Amino acid sequence: LSPTPHVVVVGAGFGGLAVARALAADPVQVTVVDRRNFHTFQPLLYQVATAGLEGESITHTVRGIFHGASNVNVHLGTVANVDFETHELRTAEGTTISWDRLVLAAGAVTATFGVPGVDQYGFGLKSLDDALRLRSHLLRQFELADVNPELIGDGAMTVVIVGGGPTGVELAGALAELFSLVLVKDYPHLDLSRARVVLVEAGDRLLPMLHPRLSEHARKTLEARGIEVLLGETVEKATDGSVGLASGTSLTTRTLVWAAGVRAHPLAEATGLPLDRSGRIVVGPDLRVPGHADVFVIGDLAAARDRHEDLLPQLAPVAMQQGRHVAAELRREAHGRRPGVFRYRDKGSMATIGRNDAVAQLPGGIRVHGFLAWVLWLNLHLVYLIGFRNRASVLVDWGWNYLTYDRGARIITEAGPT
Ligand SMILES: Cc1cc2nc3c(=O)[nH]c(=O)nc-3n(C[C@H](O)[C@H](O)[C@H](O)COP(=O)(O)OP(=O)(O)OC[C@H]3O[C@@H](n4cnc5c(N)ncnc54)[C@H](O)[C@@H]3O)c2cc1C
Repeated sequence: LSPTPHVVVVGAGFGGLAVARALAADPVQVTVVDRRNFHTFQPLLYQVATAGLEGESITHTVRGIFHGASNVNVHLGTVANVDFETHELRTAEGTTISWDRLVLAAGAVTATFGVPGVDQYGFGLKSLDDALRLRSHLLRQFELADVNPELIGDGAMTVVIVGGGPTGVELAGALAELFSLVLVKDYPHLDLSRARVVLVEAGDRLLPMLHPRLSEHARKTLEARGIEVLLGETVEKATDGSVGLASGTSLTTRTLVWAAGVRAHPLAEATGLPLDRSGRIVVGPDLRVPGHADVFVIGDLAAARDRHEDLLPQLAPVAMQQGRHVAAELRREAHGRRPGVFRYRDKGSMATIGRNDAVAQLPGGIRVHGFLAWVLWLNLHLVYLIGFRNRASVLVDWGWNYLTYDRGARIITEAGPT
């Protein structure tokens, strides 16, 4: 590397931030490029969508994160393409940025697998915009039903969630609470017993990454809270008023939330680099792109494999550990050492099912559910949230919501016609 090499990091998500933070005291110049000027803590997006938290509480400006890091620059821009010959990337805004080392960490986007109508009528939950749009839409349905209760029969108070992974399960639990604890007071003239949350999962159980007993606990708890769980069902099509299942069942709804999968960000394809079947960029054991020793890919964008050749999951801890690994690789390289191998340390998985209940699978095969798992979940999310202000405001909101059974952020941000 030249005396102060320029490391360009594309994406200020979990992976990109981990690289830049780890390099903040190193003799390198770092530029973090992101299309947004803030980082989003995606695991809590569903709480914004269900009015439990303000959007600002789960986001942090990228510039604010690097206050005091004199070797880190922040660049607001959307990377459109990468030229590996000239070592330059170009943004949609027309800027050219050259690098000595490049780290691609642009994450993933919602994958609807071409199911007819889902792109048009479904709501994703991948960004703050998605969460705010869903929240506004949901609350508006209740406003409309309040004026014209006949709309309840048209699905105004029915939410269909597709995908029984952590996002689907957590969203379903939070929606059931929003309806039964809060909206029931907001809309005293509506019969909230007619509000439905339907969770559709193609597999034979929820939360397939967890032990079957935890999946079963999650299903039973959700059902006890009034959520209809449909297992072994796939969505065939969506219209503006219904969701059609492969079994022939048609669900009347005005709100379809698609939590059934993500795919690598389209930037992966735009680079022209070899992709694996899931559309992620193929990387070697040290997370470099084969044939491009100066380019690393991490997080949801990378097809990295473990020692059994299994693809690593698209999870925040994978992205963060990979980010720290890249920083260590650059140091190794600067000291003339041979490349290392990235090893993911799985610290377990968890999902909350709503108030006082969660499921967690910890290292060593330890399984926890119920109140203890819920407390673990709360603590872990607070620890990983960036910024003291965010942690404080989330803690206050959670405390308030817990004690008062209220949700303060019931704001419809999109105004009606002027
Ligand atoms: C609703 C939801 C819930 C989740 N819950 C959990 C959970 O509980 N636990 C868990 O471990 N994981 C969870 N995940 C997955 C986790 O959020 C991802 O695995 C993680 O964010 C991946 O990190 P990343 O750095 O690869 O990408 P991201 O964190 O997605 O960051 C990508 C960044 O790149 C930027 N970007 C994209 N394209 C461009 C471009 N062309 N130019 C410039 N910038 C660009 C984006 O703005 C973004 O800031 C969840 C994801 C979602 C959507």
